[in-house]
Amino acid sequence: MKIAVIGGGIGGLCTAYALQQQNFVVDVFEATSSFKPIGAGIGIGSNAMQALIELGIGTKIYENGTNLTTQLFFNAKGKQLNSIDFSALKDLYGQSNITIQRADLHRTLYHAIQKDTLFLNKRCLKVEQYDTGCTLHFSDKTTADYDYVIAADGIHSPIRKQYIIDSEPRYAGYICWRGVSTAYPFIEAHTSVEIWDTIGRFGYAPLKDGKVYWFACVNAKENDLFLHHLEKEQLAALFNSFPSQVSGMILSTNQDDILHHDLYDIKPLKKFHFGRVILLGDAAHATTPNMGQGAGQAIEDALVFSTALAQQKDFIEAAKQYEHIRLHKTKKVTQLSKQIGLAAQWSNPLLAKSRDFVFPFIPSSLLLKRLKFLFK
Ligand SMILES: Cc1cc2nc3c(=O)[nH]c(=O)nc-3n(C[C@H](O)[C@H](O)[C@H](O)COP(=O)(O)OP(=O)(O)OC[C@H]3O[C@@H](n4cnc5c(N)ncnc54)[C@H](O)[C@@H]3O)c2cc1C
Repeated sequence: MKIAVIGGGIGGLCTAYALQQQNFVVDVFEATSSFKPIGAGIGIGSNAMQALIELGIGTKIYENGTNLTTQLFFNAKGKQLNSIDFSALKDLYGQSNITIQRADLHRTLYHAIQKDTLFLNKRCLKVEQYDTGCTLHFSDKTTADYDYVIAADGIHSPIRKQYIIDSEPRYAGYICWRGVSTAYPFIEAHTSVEIWDTIGRFGYAPLKDGKVYWFACVNAKENDLFLHHLEKEQLAALFNSFPSQVSGMILSTNQDDILHHDLYDIKPLKKFHFGRVILLGDAAHATTPNMGQGAGQAIEDALVFSTALAQQKDFIEAAKQYEHIRLHKTKKVTQLSKQIGLAAQWSNPLLAKSRDFVFPFIPSSLLLKRLKFLFK
């Protein structure tokens, strides 16, 4: 059985690794010509850490991670709105939430897959299916034949659009900047913070070696050229009503390393499986990042599909099992994440004021309970 994975992101590499561990023949085709280190951190939930441990690579990833046990929410005036205590996750499920530099996570996955099975500069434009196999067509006009295909080619997946025409990404209504600062090693250990106000939202979390990952979100029209060209001084000025560490983190970050993206998700799909092809990761269920679960869900996909294939020994049967297990949970994540984003990004002062009034009365244990479906 020869399997092609399209896309060398977290989802594609993790799946290739998982399948190669079971001695399946797997090649990965990645559109870009090189992997540049991405200047951002990422939260990997306890659920994804459980999956990585089960896949046999979690310990290596954990070496570069930092446990995250508490999440605090504030308004810009410094009033604590609420908190979530994640410290019980390790006892309950065996793994903590962690943060890690994206580049470290990606590098570990890249080194874990078999040598000479990753092909760069191979942008797949379409997959043709026959009774006996598939042909991948690349932008360099070459083709390659495989028995089955796993499309892990991200939120803009041309392969998904080939099977589901009306699956264009939905704009979430806000732009997000991200960076890594080295100037705030004194922030509270194992604690992530989000500060919500009508101008926008700012969050930060510790990384290894005294670094801090931060993000800033502001409501905006799609592709707002003014916002996409802000210098860090102007970005810091947008948040000048926030506590001073916010502008401190922004200003202490190298301008060229600050990422800025409009945020999108895709409407939950009804199918991830199309004959000899499955969709995986963001290609199947891209979500807004409000729950820090996009990559986590891609990692879960890798575990579920590789386990199904090991059990069934038949790709189509494994694909059915994978689709059955993954549709429901990923839909729930996308929907809940969208709701959280809407409430966190309220710019109407009256709505924000009522949120700031009501949110502190919601017991922290209830917030955690609402997230339990993720970690089980
Ligand atoms: C601001 C922000 C913050 C986030 N924070 C978190 C977080 O804290 N925790 C979390 O779990 N998730 C987070 N996410 C989500 C996470 O980044 C994604 O869910 C995850 O990267 C998806 O992995 P993937 O491999 O499915 O897709 P991608 O990472 O998009 O990888 C797809 C790969 O396919 C390649 N590709 C694309 N098209 C083609 C083609 N036609 N042919 C060949 N190759 C192709 C791309 O170059 C890329 O390498 C965040 C996302 C954003 C935007």
